[in-house]
Amino acid sequence: MNCLFCAIVTGDIPASKVKENANVLAFNDINPQAPTHILIIPKAHYENAAELAAADHKVLGELFAMAREIADEKSLNGYRTVFNTGEDGGQTVFHAHLHLLGGRSLQWPPG
Ligand code: 5GP
Ligand code: ZN
Repeated sequence: MNCLFCAIVTGDIPASKVKENANVLAFNDINPQAPTHILIIPKAHYENAAELAAADHKVLGELFAMAREIADEKSLNGYRTVFNTGEDGGQTVFHAHLHLLGGRSLQWPPG
């Protein structure tokens, strides 16, 4: 399988790592949309959040727990966590990833 984020997990493609544990890896987005824009991914491959939710509630929860830890460490004044799922959801990389955005006032609704 040719998956960009699996290659980041194995270290075959470099990334700016922020935090990791046995199941989850967080790294800086290469094209940040906010002063803090971090991707938090399961180390195991799931195509999107729906597939992860169907397969592993524990790891799904660990993604949000790591978002909270990073937000605390960075003393973010609030933040947004987003899963883009499927074509109309704006998903472009098909390995589940939770976006953590913060460091500025974020607009709502998103485009
Ligand atoms: P999606 O559009 O699928 O929700 O988000 C994919 C994200 O992955 C985008 O925000 C994009 O900037 C980021 N991205 C794409 N390729 C790379 C890469 O090679 N390295 C890193 N760190 N982020 C990437
Ligand atoms: Zn993958």
